[in-house]
Amino acid sequence: MGTVYEADCPKCSYRGEFHIGSGLFALQLHRHLRFFDEKEQEEIQKLETENRIQKFQITNQLSFCKDCGKLREKTVLLVTGADQERYLFGNHCSDCHSELVLYGEQEMGHVLCPGCKKSELKFSEAGHWD
Ligand SMILES: [Zn+2]
Ligand SMILES: [Zn+2]
Repeated sequence: MGTVYEADCPKCSYRGEFHIGSGLFALQLHRHLRFFDEKEQEEIQKLETENRIQKFQITNQLSFCKDCGKLREKTVLLVTGADQERYLFGNHCSDCHSELVLYGEQEMGHVLCPGCKKSELKFSEAGHWD
């Protein structure tokens, strides 16, 4: 089950809501392919066809695009290959394709407000999602 977080800026009117973590369908890779761009989908399917996926993890992470200035939730896929190599998918902005800054749940206390860029956001748990 994932967690819904509300973000609040103490300095301006910025408010946000983010679905973070993993939902119920996180074990079904195919249901999530649409979250990735075409090139990534091809790479993921290639890894699968060649039986090179040892395990994988699908999670929503808080992401920030330095180019667009947008703070959003992003579905990210981390694959551990049969060769123990790790592959990360979904870590690029869906608008401008720049590499995103991804925040783990422990790092969410240090996220700068995308509105005023002066204060760190305050996150509070607002519920769960699946
Ligand atoms: Zn962007
Ligand atoms: Zn602010």
